[in-house]
Amino acid sequence: MNPNFVKIEPKSLSVAIVGFTGECGKALAKEILSNDLFSRTLLIGRRKVDFDQEFYKKGEQTIVDFDKLEEYEEVFKNVDVIYCCLGTTRAKAGVDGFRKVDFDYVNNTATVAAKNGCKQFHLVSSSGANKNSSLLYPQVKGLAEEAVNKHGFDKTFIYRPKLLIGTDREESRVGESIFRALTKPFQYIAPTLLTTPIDTLAKAMLTNTFLNNKLSDDKNQLIENSMIFEASEIYEKFIK
Ligand code: NDP
Repeated sequence: MNPNFVKIEPKSLSVAIVGFTGECGKALAKEILSNDLFSRTLLIGRRKVDFDQEFYKKGEQTIVDFDKLEEYEEVFKNVDVIYCCLGTTRAKAGVDGFRKVDFDYVNNTATVAAKNGCKQFHLVSSSGANKNSSLLYPQVKGLAEEAVNKHGFDKTFIYRPKLLIGTDREESRVGESIFRALTKPFQYIAPTLLTTPIDTLAKAMLTNTFLNNKLSDDKNQLIENSMIFEASEIYEKFIK
């Protein structure tokens, strides 16, 4: 991680978490709202949720139809930063449903955001994303990354976490649960090898929001798992 940064004044920013009801979305919302990080925080999703935690009252829940996102342009006006945490699984949504959420809805979000002047777009993708893969999951993730990168935001950050841990997921994903149990020893021996704590990912996304990397003029930045950990440490040391 490049040590030369220019800090952005966070309070001046208006942000939106798209997919705020998911595990990544909730981790981000908690960090942002409980620390009053931004001037305005929109929570964009397909359904309204009654959260118990008090900090959620500081966010503005906004319900949209991701199939007709162009009809919600008003929502995206004056939003400086988008955190796109959308995603589903093939098991839950089928092949077409997975493509729809993980590619179409992500691209629809980037399209309407770019059209309305969003400056930074952060996409939670996945380790192994590869548009040329013959496997559905990495292929769709890779295609979504490519699509988002084409929108020409001032900065596009693509995160490639590994298995997310530290979630309080309500639905049971048997495969993920087994893998999580198997990876436990590695979380201590080689923390970046197989897993990504959900809070670590959220903090990395916030580091990149606040700091502009001076040496890298790249508009599009790919953040692999080890870089997620490094960026999170910067948040702990210098930002919070
Ligand atoms: P979650 O499944 O917890 O949350 C996904 C979000 O997408 C929720 O807000 C959900 O809304 C929304 N969503 C799902 N289907 C639809 C739909 N049909 N229409 C509108 N919104 C929808 O995901 P995570 O937080 O675990 O993951 C975030 C991203 O990280 C995903 O892209 C995932 O592929 C990726 N990733 C996940 C890993 C993991 O271990 N889980 C590992 C690596 C990458 P609702 O609550 O209404 O369903």
